[in-house]
Amino acid sequence: MPPVRCFTCGKPLGHLWRAYWDRVKSGEDPGRALDELGVRRYCCRRTLMTSITYAEHLSKYYSLTRESFIGAGEER
Ligand SMILES: [Zn+2]
Repeated sequence: MPPVRCFTCGKPLGHLWRAYWDRVKSGEDPGRALDELGVRRYCCRRTLMTSITYAEHLSKYYSLTRESFIGAGEER
């Protein structure tokens, strides 16, 4: 789940999350992407970087949950 704000300092980060994620997926260095987006404080950088890992883990379980949900609705 994308963070709306930094957990430590409260800086709004929700509008940066998509841009950061797109840059990292296209192969850009995460530290460089954060520099260019203007995220300088290490608490904010930590919040954005760790949310990516969390989202990747969630997406694995999302596909499992979705398939089992669809499978449960089929008639046998
Ligand atoms: Zn912060």
